Amino acid sequence: MEDSHVIAYPERQVIFIDNPCNPTGFANKREEMNEFIKNVPDDVLVVLDEAYFEYAKPHGVPDGIDYIRRINPEIPEKNVVVLRTFSKAYGLAGLRIGYGVARGEIIQILEKVRQPFNTNTLAQIAALEALKDQQFVQFSVDENEKGKQFFYEEFERRNIRFVPTYGNFIMFYVQNREDVYQKLLHQGVIVRPAFGFKDYLRVSIGTEEENIRFFEALDRIGYSCK
Ligand SMILES: *Cc1c(COP(=O)(O)O)cnc(C)c1O
Repeated sequence: MEDSHVIAYPERQVIFIDNPCNPTGFANKREEMNEFIKNVPDDVLVVLDEAYFEYAKPHGVPDGIDYIRRINPEIPEKNVVVLRTFSKAYGLAGLRIGYGVARGEIIQILEKVRQPFNTNTLAQIAALEALKDQQFVQFSVDENEKGKQFFYEEFERRNIRFVPTYGNFIMFYVQNREDVYQKLLHQGVIVRPAFGFKDYLRVSIGTEEENIRFFEALDRIGYSCK
C-alpha cells in the first residue's frame, strides 16, 4: 500500500505554562496551579517553565518540582516537566545553562533526543557552584524586590499604567511604542516590546542606579501619562 511506510505516532499533547509569565509578569498561585494540575488528563505532558521561580517563590507561587516529588497526596501523579535556568536570579546568562526535572521515565525519553553536547563542562561546574551560593540568590531576589517597589512608585507618580510583576521585569503601557522605544534607546536605555501586547514595553529591573537612570531617561524624553 502506498502509505505503508507511514508510522502512526500516538497523539501526544503538551501544555507549556510560563510561571511566572514573560512578558506579563503574572503568575499562577499554588491553589490555582494545584487545581489545574489535578484536572490535566493523564496522557498530557505539562511543561512548567519556571525561569523566574526564585523571584516568585516568596509570593505563594508553587514550586513545580513539588508535583514531581508528589508532596501533596491530593494531587494524583501527572506528567510534569519543570524547567529552570541559571540565566536570571543566578546571574549566569552568558554560560547558557539550565536544567529540567521530571520523573525518570520522562527523562529517559528526552535522553534519546537530546543533543550529546548540549551544555559544556565548565558551565556545569559553575552552575553546581552557583547552586551552593544561595546567599547570592537571596541578594538578587531582595534587590529585585526593592527595585520593583521603586518602579511601582515611579510609574504611579507619572500615572503610567503597569502590570504588577512576579519576575525581574515590568510591563508598562505606552501610547506610541516604537517612538518611546527609539527615544529610550537614544538615551542608552534598552527596553523590549512586550510580545503579544502591542501597546506595552517591558523593562528589566536592574540595580538602583540603573533603575534611577531609566526614569531619568523617561523624563528626558517627556513620557508620562499625566
Ligand atoms: C529567560 C527565560 C528562559 C531561560 O532562558 P535561558 O537563558 O535560555 O536559560 C526560559 N523561559 C523564559 C520565559 C525566560 O524568560
